Amino acid sequence: MPEPRHDFARLLDEARRGLDANYTEHGNPAFARMLRLTGFDRAWRSAHGAILVDAAGREYIDCIAGYAVHGIGRAHPDMIAALADALESGHPNWVQFERNPLAALLARRLSERVPGDLSRVFFSNSGTEAIECALKLARRATGRSAVLHCDLAFHGLTLGSLAANGNPKLRDGFGELGDSECIPFNDLAALERALSTKRFAAFLVEPVQGKTCLAAAPGYLAEASRLTQRHGTQFVIDEVQTGIGRTGKFLALEHDSGCRPDMVVLSKALAGGYVPVGATLVRDDVWSKTFDSMARALVHASTFQGGVLAMTAALMTLEIHDRERLSERARDLGARMAAGFRESIARHGAADEVRGLGLILGFPLRKSASEKMLARLPLLGSLEQLAFGQSFAMELLETHGVLCQVTDSHTNLLKFTPPLTIDAAQCDAVVRAVDATFGSLSGGLRATATGAMHALRNAAGRV
Ligand code: PLP
Repeated sequence: MPEPRHDFARLLDEARRGLDANYTEHGNPAFARMLRLTGFDRAWRSAHGAILVDAAGREYIDCIAGYAVHGIGRAHPDMIAALADALESGHPNWVQFERNPLAALLARRLSERVPGDLSRVFFSNSGTEAIECALKLARRATGRSAVLHCDLAFHGLTLGSLAANGNPKLRDGFGELGDSECIPFNDLAALERALSTKRFAAFLVEPVQGKTCLAAAPGYLAEASRLTQRHGTQFVIDEVQTGIGRTGKFLALEHDSGCRPDMVVLSKALAGGYVPVGATLVRDDVWSKTFDSMARALVHASTFQGGVLAMTAALMTLEIHDRERLSERARDLGARMAAGFRESIARHGAADEVRGLGLILGFPLRKSASEKMLARLPLLGSLEQLAFGQSFAMELLETHGVLCQVTDSHTNLLKFTPPLTIDAAQCDAVVRAVDATFGSLSGGLRATATGAMHALRNAAGRV
């Protein structure tokens, strides 16, 4: 019997021992400072389902889930077995000049689940790449180049996707971006006004905005389908974050029965969080405008598209989604968590509303007297990352072992996107943690002060 090899353990051990020096000299120092200040700079040892375990053995309920990629939960045994099987099979990856069987099967399974006739699928490796594909195909199909998007939209950070980003802070400083226009989310009159100029190749929209957790109003997506069709603009629904069950249906657009997109974009949870993948689903007539001859068969392509591991992971994710009824889980557990948040908010009056659908939930904290007071304190005011929302997230992490995020360093929106395999007891524990943190808020400055204390301790390097 050959000796078992432990190369991963050896590499990880070396990486851990060298982390301080390696990251300081070769990593992103601004990000390292932010992690230290917010207390998120922890060493993680293991994970299962919705649980992350740190180096000291403490368990945390993960309500970030890798920015909503771990839909099926971490360490899923069926996924691990399928990926190990694929690796060990010796099946050749990226032959390139072949009709990729796994990609063709996944394309069929995806297009069968999407309303309308989106029969062609282009695979890529991330959300932003899948959006780039949609933009290129829309430009080619319409002969137009401008893109229409919503306020605070997020579709990725490569240059094409950035042109459709609704946050000036993320756009600034990167030179001239492609022609684009921003309209308010959920505003059909503004949409119709913009579309009637007939200058837009595509209208991009998220059914639940990742940065605001606001959901499309009932009927908005259906009416947007009609308007875009009338004005010759491609209607691109960005389901990168909402797809594969997160909102309580396989796609969030299914909440609006009249919605008929020209393209649907998927990524994140599509391969369960195990392998990066992106997918752009598109109608045949739109597809064939770009790939319109043998000479142009590869005018849009990517070396790593359709990889064996990515395709296997995505096919397995669909099977696990169906077997474990993950959309239904997201619907029921999301409703349970949202009801818990609402009850707590009503009792403490510290937030205005609970936003979202299924297991993408958020609430904006009320700007409180404590925040204003915090800003006036010269030392704490200078800790610019320490927005009120961040101190709330720090308190949840440090005191209650719940990992969640604010969507931007200066917003007060707390956001929760746990794995869809989270159980009812874990959902209730998250609600209790939020309630306890609200409780300490209404008692005065305590949560803010505790958050500030965590930050000061972290800034002083004592974590
Ligand atoms: N679209 C949406 C709605 C997203 O939430 C994201 C990422 O958060 C993207 C696109 C970009 O995906 P990626 O980070 O994989 O490029």
